[in-house]
Amino acid sequence: MENRRDEKYYKQIGFMCGLEIHQRLATDRKLFCGCNANLEEQQHGPTITRRLRAVAGELGEIDRSAKFEELKERNFKYLISDGHACLVDIDEEPPHLMNRDALEIALKLAASMSMKVPAELEPMRKEVVDGSNPSAFQRSTLTGFNGRITVNGNKIEIPSMFLEEESAGIISNSESYAEYDTSRIGIPLIEIDTFPYIKTPEEAKDVALHIGTLLRLTGFVQRGIGSIRQDVNVSISGGSRIEIKGLQELSDMDKFIENEVVRQQKLLEISKLLNSRNAGVDFEKTDLTDVFSSTESKMISASITASGSVIGFKLKHFKGVIGMEVNPGRRLGTEISDYAKMAGVKGIIHSDEDMSKYKISASELDAIRDKLGMDGEDAFIIVTGKKEIASKAIGLAMERAKLAISTIPPETRAVDNRELFTTRFMRPLPGGSRMYPETDTRPILITSSMLKNAESGAISVSKERAKLVEELSSEDLADRMMLSPKLQLYRELAASKNADRQFIANVILQKFREIQRDGINTDAIPNAAVKEIFALFFDGKITKQAVEQLIRLAAKKAGKPISEIVESNGLSRKTGKALESLIESELKGHSLEDKEHTSMFIKSFMSKYRLNVDGAELNDLVSKLSAKHSKK
Ligand SMILES: [Zn+2]
Repeated sequence: MENRRDEKYYKQIGFMCGLEIHQRLATDRKLFCGCNANLEEQQHGPTITRRLRAVAGELGEIDRSAKFEELKERNFKYLISDGHACLVDIDEEPPHLMNRDALEIALKLAASMSMKVPAELEPMRKEVVDGSNPSAFQRSTLTGFNGRITVNGNKIEIPSMFLEEESAGIISNSESYAEYDTSRIGIPLIEIDTFPYIKTPEEAKDVALHIGTLLRLTGFVQRGIGSIRQDVNVSISGGSRIEIKGLQELSDMDKFIENEVVRQQKLLEISKLLNSRNAGVDFEKTDLTDVFSSTESKMISASITASGSVIGFKLKHFKGVIGMEVNPGRRLGTEISDYAKMAGVKGIIHSDEDMSKYKISASELDAIRDKLGMDGEDAFIIVTGKKEIASKAIGLAMERAKLAISTIPPETRAVDNRELFTTRFMRPLPGGSRMYPETDTRPILITSSMLKNAESGAISVSKERAKLVEELSSEDLADRMMLSPKLQLYRELAASKNADRQFIANVILQKFREIQRDGINTDAIPNAAVKEIFALFFDGKITKQAVEQLIRLAAKKAGKPISEIVESNGLSRKTGKALESLIESELKGHSLEDKEHTSMFIKSFMSKYRLNVDGAELNDLVSKLSAKHSKK
């Protein structure tokens, strides 16, 4: 393993890296209609089916990624949930006024990042043709520009922030059709972009963490999987811009970026090698089905039996190159295979692979080489499936293989393997021609009072952190709290009377995790219930120990009133006179004559009433009692 590369190294290789962070806001209503924006408790009703077409953007061009999606010729089905989607969401009714709560949060964020705000906000339409929106666009409004944040003492410029509509959530996906949930469409979404001047993969992670924290500190962000998404753009000198989509775990972001750098370096090496060999791709598709008329290969014979074909092509002077590794567990062949898969095949077979893996015999191999007119330095790729699909797959593989000679294709890539931190091709990178004006809404005038209001609510991540360090007397605890999705809950709990802040932090950071590890879903407890539990403790109605127990029970019996759980499980605290008489009755006339007896008694008492008794109070009372006894 090589040492971790430093800033100097990344500068040398022309590393460019920028982030796009998307965060769903937690407002009551959607951005341009009155639908419920809370995704919990929805039921599906009717569905609609649509097909989408790419249209020319503002500059008159059809975007390549839009065209690519259209070529897949898929149908899209949209599930509609009562109260969670309306005619606005499926573009049968013009948008209503922009949600003022969402706008307020956006302006507060703009102020927090010292951004300029346009005097008038102009909603635009951004083309979306992958089906994730039945209208084939999403509304996007520039709400801030020319901003900056400071991360680890470095100034990071934030050129733009948008208030957008969330897309539909995908339910199922197949070659010919995809099913989406419309409830998510139109939920307000913040997009924050950085310039591509992030200096190292490590810094990218820190910037993403910082922005994520800032977003959470607004107190109005949705939680849970998919509610925040970070896209990373990466390139190196001679390489191309690659967008990695859907990194949900921030902790691994740097490793994905490092691997992308390596992938581009290897692809550049491959390109150099292929050029030096004068390599080329033969754009002739050859039907090789006859070669396999009596094949032992189960995969191929099954395909042929299902009236499939085997189609192949020759790659001149590619021998050994298709098998070259570009990332852990991924070869140039994998990259080519990703493209072929878009046609609906399972993958490709290439000549750098071990043919015995597929039970392809030596004579079949000879026949392929013969039919394709190969010589010693050449390679082949074959695909099997329904003729039309196989032929389309081969066409896509040819395009990708040819690109390997000259360049690295700009792509949008998705996470392929979370353990190896690798990505795979998803679609061509969208160009700049996806935006066009939304003519169904009026521009939104930004008044000076709106800006003043935003300014007064501006958030400083570093000030918040300093405040937490002071409250929790621990940098480590403060940092963990800053990153926790429960930060807002902590803030609310910490503001209550008699709050023990370190205890709160310990419970929501540590105990919740332990309980989760025991297989109890702590996300099932509403924040209101957690607040009620802590209020009981701060009021002296339950003990510290009972807090954890109550959280466990509340998670299992979500929805049941906390008071009832306390009652039915005997969790209320015994204190004062009640505790005194309990001690007397447990003593059953025995006296606490010496230290040994006293400590034994306290031990056995605590093991019985651990959840009901505060240890300090018990000690006090017992020593009071034993003093009384010894006087007798
Ligand atoms: Zn709606």
